Amino acid sequence: MNIPTELLHHIDGKDVPSASGATFGVSDPVTDTEYGRVAAGDAADVDLAVAAARRAFTEGPWPRLSLRERARVLVRIADAIEARSDRLAELETFDTGLPITQAKGQAHRAAENFRYFADVIVAGHEDAFLVGDRQVNYAIRQPAGVAGLITPWNTPFMLETWKLAPSLAAGCAVVLKPAEWSPLSASLLPGIMAEAGVPDGVFNLVHGIGEEAGAALVAHPDVPRLSFTGESGTGQIIMRTAAQHLKEVSMELGGKSPCVVFADADFDRAVDAAVFGVFSLNGERCTASSRVLVQREVYDAFVSALAARAAAVRVGLPSDPETEVGALIHPEHHARVLEYVEVGKREARLVAGGGRPAHLPTGNFLAPTVFADVPVDARVFQEEIFGPVVCVTPFDTEEEAVALANATRYGLAAYVWTADLARGHRVARAVQSGMVWVNSHNVRDLRTPFGGIKASGVGREGGAHSIDFYSDLRAVHVAVGDLAPPRFGAVDRA
Ligand code: NAD
Repeated sequence: MNIPTELLHHIDGKDVPSASGATFGVSDPVTDTEYGRVAAGDAADVDLAVAAARRAFTEGPWPRLSLRERARVLVRIADAIEARSDRLAELETFDTGLPITQAKGQAHRAAENFRYFADVIVAGHEDAFLVGDRQVNYAIRQPAGVAGLITPWNTPFMLETWKLAPSLAAGCAVVLKPAEWSPLSASLLPGIMAEAGVPDGVFNLVHGIGEEAGAALVAHPDVPRLSFTGESGTGQIIMRTAAQHLKEVSMELGGKSPCVVFADADFDRAVDAAVFGVFSLNGERCTASSRVLVQREVYDAFVSALAARAAAVRVGLPSDPETEVGALIHPEHHARVLEYVEVGKREARLVAGGGRPAHLPTGNFLAPTVFADVPVDARVFQEEIFGPVVCVTPFDTEEEAVALANATRYGLAAYVWTADLARGHRVARAVQSGMVWVNSHNVRDLRTPFGGIKASGVGREGGAHSIDFYSDLRAVHVAVGDLAPPRFGAVDRA
């Protein structure tokens, strides 16, 4: 496999090392050995990238292209991504430990983001247009300027495109700071942008450690929008800095999402969904259904079925097409998840997994793990583990189910399984969550808003919400008739 061993920044159309010459090492999650060196960006590199983006924004054609022309470039980006789908899956699997079969769908989804936002800008956006007696009043959207995009290591390429597609569609120039543990797939982006005809300086990439490159991007005064996906604690730090500049931020943060299974639910489908919800993408998924709440009548049967299914999940090399759970991203993260597993053993009843699989003595592997009878105050119930670990807790009534679902600081996703549709709607309204799926797993139409409440986020991505975020709304009032001269004390009406 041909893996790049030197990853550079991409600033103003050129691949460049860090101004300081500094690099950091990056390893793959199966062998945990260093495969390459990555340019370690700091404030100096961020300054150069922001200056290039600012020039492209203020002097270049990008924000001034007609919406149709910009949409055509976005479609070409989508084509360029799909043309690289095998390569993208290969790099993502190697770099993150995601099973190859799951990485393969990502190019398509990433490309769809660009096609979708091309459609959004051509179809137009809902703007106010009001005609008064003596004034025409309307609102226009204008690209906000330079957008800073900071992304996490789980499904890195796809999450990068969630920010790139709408920010570019809105007409912004961007500086992307990918996660330091998974920088590889972002190295495809400069080629994709060039092939699609994105002008130099519109897309810039600065690698680096969060506390240095990321923090410099957040603090930069010429970056009016900052879109972040990552841990809630990092989000808090970023918001504090952004507040000093009154910068608009979008925050997609952590989760501890409940899957509520009522006794009348289709049992087998609910088990399937619970298995998929927490073990797909290695459980390293913000919307993972990591707390399964099950009505008492079917609780024991559900726990047994979930434990049996967890034990049958094929854990293996990420590159093997048979693998369902691959390797966790990094030894540090693996150790953290293992620590939670040990905590869980003290807090609840272990019914599946509980450590490294016997057949995989090295690499960041973990057997899918199920804890039953987990009390609400257990750490494994309350804290985001971000691995293939699930808690199961019984409930008796709908009221109790909702209270348990809402008993953490998070509010990203929720899943409800019931044959009673009225109850499905009721619970969908009662759970504190940005997104709810009823009798469904993670399937999502790109037009719908994505994001969380409470500690899971601020703002929404997806649909028109993203265009709103990356643009400024301006109201224009034009006198068309006989507008009387202003008088102190007079009330003016349009
Ligand atoms: P993280 O917060 O450690 O890092 C995310 C990004 O922020 C990285 O690029 C990192 O370099 C950067 N960063 C770190 N410190 C920074 C600072 N002080 N200033 C600026 N940037 C900084 O998160 P992670 O471990 O990479 O990702 C996993 C987390 O992301 C989980 O909590 C997961 O739930 C969350 N996530 C949320 C969503 C969502 O849509 N809500 C999606 C995916 C992941």
